Amino acid sequence: MTARIIDGRALAKNVKATLASRIERLRACDTPVRLDAILVGSDGSAAIYARNQGTACRELGIEHVLHQLPDDARDDEIAGRVMLLNAEPLVHAVMVHLPLPSGVDTERIQSMIDPVKDVEGVNPANIGNIVYGRRSLVPCTALAVMEMIESTGIDLPGTQCVCVGASNIVGKPVVVLLMRDQATVISTNKYTPQLGSLTRTADVLISAAGTPGLITADMVKPGAVVIDVGISRVEAPDGTRRTVGDVAFDEVAAVASAVSPVPGGVGPMTVAMLLRNTVESASRRRQK
Ligand code: NAD
Repeated sequence: MTARIIDGRALAKNVKATLASRIERLRACDTPVRLDAILVGSDGSAAIYARNQGTACRELGIEHVLHQLPDDARDDEIAGRVMLLNAEPLVHAVMVHLPLPSGVDTERIQSMIDPVKDVEGVNPANIGNIVYGRRSLVPCTALAVMEMIESTGIDLPGTQCVCVGASNIVGKPVVVLLMRDQATVISTNKYTPQLGSLTRTADVLISAAGTPGLITADMVKPGAVVIDVGISRVEAPDGTRRTVGDVAFDEVAAVASAVSPVPGGVGPMTVAMLLRNTVESASRRRQK
């Protein structure tokens, strides 16, 4: 079997195309779509991501306001900015770029973002709403995983899904969303014994562990759908560095029916889902 490649860049392009017309309609109704992002410091991967995010927003007609705080900003200053944005009626989408400086209580800061403006879905209230099946802003990577599974056409009720990795921001919400779609779901973590015996039962296998090469062909059921969330930088024998996922791509592609690549898989779709959540939050404000 040679797997179909689940092309995250192509899927993201389609999502953005549908968003463009919604953004235009909202602007015409006096509701410009806007994303306010807080960045602490000006160096590092968060700053690069923030700049790229600004470009992606502007390309779609979303206003991007970057609130840059100094490298040595502490909890109170960051929390204060979050509170200001929560209170500002013109602001409907707020996110905080990570990592925050060491010593800052990231979870406390994330918990302070108003749940209706929390477009990354990091406030525990939004995770709770997912569990209860209420309308909420869902963490973007988990949404991306679900969209990619849906793009394969697989019907989730009656399937067995295994999620490798159980973090608050990826593994746990993915498991809840799969449960909501009536799949039978197994959640695994780094202490799970005999991981392969579980992954081999999966019609849909999601890996979000951050361990390069963790998922090999012998761990995959023939015909399974495999979604690779992992992102790691590794050094090749010639000293060059490249980005890889958790899945040993070539060998797994020979067994699976569909597999997402890294790069070009979940990553671009996660960005598209952030933009979609931003538009969603503007629409809800408009409806109010
Ligand atoms: P995390 O470190 O918070 O959690 C990792 C989880 O994987 C934990 O539950 C851990 O127990 C489990 N795990 C680790 N090694 C394992 C093993 N050998 N077997 C089974 N389980 C194992 O990480 P995270 O924030 O959830 O991110 C996971 C990966 O996904 C990272 O590579 C990260 O860079 C990537 N990521 C990608 C995107 C994206 O947009 N594509 C977004 C978020 C995270």
